[in-house]
Amino acid sequence: MKLTFASPLSAIRGVGAAGERVLNSAGLATVRDVLWNLPHRYEDRSEPQRIASLTQPDTMATVGGRLVQVIERRARNRRLRIVEAMVDDGSGSLPIVWFNQPYLASTLHEGMRVWLYGALKPARSGWGLQLVAPEWEIEDEESEPIHLGRIVPMYRRLGSWSGRRVRTLVSRALEGLGQVVDPLAGMLPDDLRLVPLGEALSGVHFPQPPGAGVPATDAFFDQLAQRRTPAHRRLAFEELLALALVLERERGRRHSQRAPICNITEEVRDSARRVLPFRLTEAQKRAIAEIVSDLQRTYPMARLLQGDVGSGKTIVAALSALVVLASGHQVALLAPTELLAQQHYSTLTGLLGPTLFRPELLIGSLAAAEKRRVRDCLADGSAHFVVGTHALLEDAVVFGRLGLAIIDEQHRFGVAQRQALIEKGEAPHLLVMTATPIPRSLALSLYGDLDFSVLDEMPPGRTPVRTAIRDDSARPKLAEFLRGEVAGGGQAYWVFPLIEESDKISARAVETHVRAVRQSLPGVRVGVVHGRTPAAEREATMAAFAAGEIGVLCATTVIEVGVDVPNASVMVIENAERFGLAQLHQLRGRVGRGRRRSFCALLAGPECSHEAKERLELLAATADGFRIAEEDFRLRGPGEFTGLRQWGRPEFHVASLWLHRRELEAARALAATAAASGQLEAVAAALSCPGGVGPGVPVG
Ligand code: ADP
Ligand code: MG
Repeated sequence: MKLTFASPLSAIRGVGAAGERVLNSAGLATVRDVLWNLPHRYEDRSEPQRIASLTQPDTMATVGGRLVQVIERRARNRRLRIVEAMVDDGSGSLPIVWFNQPYLASTLHEGMRVWLYGALKPARSGWGLQLVAPEWEIEDEESEPIHLGRIVPMYRRLGSWSGRRVRTLVSRALEGLGQVVDPLAGMLPDDLRLVPLGEALSGVHFPQPPGAGVPATDAFFDQLAQRRTPAHRRLAFEELLALALVLERERGRRHSQRAPICNITEEVRDSARRVLPFRLTEAQKRAIAEIVSDLQRTYPMARLLQGDVGSGKTIVAALSALVVLASGHQVALLAPTELLAQQHYSTLTGLLGPTLFRPELLIGSLAAAEKRRVRDCLADGSAHFVVGTHALLEDAVVFGRLGLAIIDEQHRFGVAQRQALIEKGEAPHLLVMTATPIPRSLALSLYGDLDFSVLDEMPPGRTPVRTAIRDDSARPKLAEFLRGEVAGGGQAYWVFPLIEESDKISARAVETHVRAVRQSLPGVRVGVVHGRTPAAEREATMAAFAAGEIGVLCATTVIEVGVDVPNASVMVIENAERFGLAQLHQLRGRVGRGRRRSFCALLAGPECSHEAKERLELLAATADGFRIAEEDFRLRGPGEFTGLRQWGRPEFHVASLWLHRRELEAARALAATAAASGQLEAVAAALSCPGGVGPGVPVG
């Protein structure tokens, strides 16, 4: 029977009811799933070696020849069953041994031609070599070998199915499928030289080096390892296209909505001028102009404001809020931590002082009565502006007329949270802000449904942060330096890497660290904040630090985002190797905000590897957040998958946002063209990859 992508697994030759159950529970349901289950690597078993030429023990060898003897015996301890054989290729003969696979004695017979691939070990006799537990395949006149004598795909186990069995399964699925018509034929971009679907599927599973009969070059193996062969790129393109179509669909949906109407009157302009505590940078002006123009459209704004740490996103948010408030709508600002929400609340209360609008604060640690009061005011519309944490997302929070949702440090939230906030209004405008510079390719995929504004310019008066990598031996000098800084009016952060903020043990660990810090800094007032510090205490500590009463603030990464104390000039990071580069960059961004010369000490722990050290060196050498992000992204590669999952995007089997960035650009272009010409759903219907991007499947 001829298979289709949608055929059930039991339609594949060799898959019975039991096999189907095993594969189903491993997540495979159809022929499509089998074909998109890609090998995780390839082994070169293409070149048989002449037995006479094999002299090196402990190497891998491929041999092709005739079996001259097969016997089974039990080892002396009776538990181990051994099959021994001898293979001859005309140049010589080689002994083979398999353990505990007695069925081989009845599968393999004298006189058969076989392929073998395995490790060469010194023979038991002490003379020459033997092949130990090799992979084997019986040569077949009718068909190409799949396990040996070629570049062999290596699959992960699926339940009780070995990688070898999966290989057979894939080969039979391809065979049953026969010729495949490429539904994207004619749509593939010419300049990427992608192959048609059928060729791509057989090419990723059973690669043939380009040029018949020519051995594969190193370059070809590099391409395979990097999933960059034309076959891999064809499949990657399709997955990226699936993503691009989802994003276009979201954009289209938004354009059909009616947004809260905002009018920019002379009065609004006036109060904006009164609010401004400083001259805006050109980048800030540009971003505000873009936002204001969005706010006057008929459909809701959805804009990402990207700007490195300290580039001044808060004022952009405040002015955007003002425009919306002045038109009679409500504004909500969502922040990832209570610390940051509190800080925004006090900054915005100050900024909006000269206007009619007073922000409210809504965070989990407020007293129940106060929370109720804020919620009531939001529901009846008497509160205009609210700043808060996840507490804003609770069902109990209802807005009378939400006009603008602002999300700060967007990367800390998932798409579900973004959605939850938006759904508190009819079709509110959305402004998301992030200080984590995102590589273009990632931005296109994670935030591809948004428009971008970039703050690529720092406010004046910034001093570059000098960054140094140090180890334990530098502690005494570091303490001395810090005492000097504090005596001279400076302040410092001292950060500890604790993974579980909520963990009691971690909280204790901070206390232990803090005791050591206090001991090394006699006469300096040392404060502490971490995830388990009660809100009131945390607020008091932060206020004391902001007022300059605390010299050194010990903290976990709660201070990573948004915290703004311009007088702080030193950042010490313990076990810096445990952080991602982007995170270190964020932490470093807490200093260098004022006039003082600023420093960052990255303390590398004793277990810091050579590679980790190199990453830290990159950070020390550059302040360019985008470069750091690209590098972080390149190094952490697989992290991208979690990122996508968190965003409710289709997951990739082949595609890599980094390795396939050209394919991503091309896919985005195709999706945009398709959307513009009303062909979006037609293209979506032509996709063969799994992942549920068929028409109307909601994603995020
Ligand atoms: P981020 O982009 O990291 O959120 P903030 O909005 O917290 O940055 O701004 C960082 C600091 O720079 C704040 O102290 C803010 O008052 C100040 N700032 C922002 N814009 C300007 C400007 N145009 N001129 C001077 N200072 C500015
Ligand atoms: Mg900020």
